[in-house]
Amino acid sequence: MKKKVGIFSFTCDEGCSILLVEIFNKKLVGWLEKMDIKYFLSIKEESEVKDFDVALVEGVINTEKELKEIKKIRENSKTLIAMGACAMTGQPSGQRNLFSADQLAEAKDTLNSFPFLPKALSIKEAVKVDDEIIGCPINEGKFIEVFEKWIG
Ligand code: SF4
Repeated sequence: MKKKVGIFSFTCDEGCSILLVEIFNKKLVGWLEKMDIKYFLSIKEESEVKDFDVALVEGVINTEKELKEIKKIRENSKTLIAMGACAMTGQPSGQRNLFSADQLAEAKDTLNSFPFLPKALSIKEAVKVDDEIIGCPINEGKFIEVFEKWIG
């Protein structure tokens, strides 16, 4: 049976999923025998977040809404893979975590105008992660190695 794959972006520049589209351009024909892409807003309209075999997730969690969303993705995914440095470490997209007291004071009005969590969370901090792919953006060879392991 084909694996159901979902690809999700949280707060970031989406550089990892852009690179992922390039990897798919080279590898998708072979991979489509093993998997169906059920959710990937870069290439298809939104669909239900439900019953994934493999979820690939990039970015950081910045708001309660995003935290609820990643928890729902976790509950609906057999395997969840953190894709890229932001998802693994919270940086660079969680730069506000590194602000000095002066920088925080300067950015206070902007920060207060969004429903931000006290700090940006990596995907690994927000939910249990089963595997990870290094890089900013992701390393292509590592992506292929990790992804092929999970789509079988
Ligand atoms: S790891 Fe780098 S390329 Fe990937 S989403 Fe974060 S900032 Fe963008």
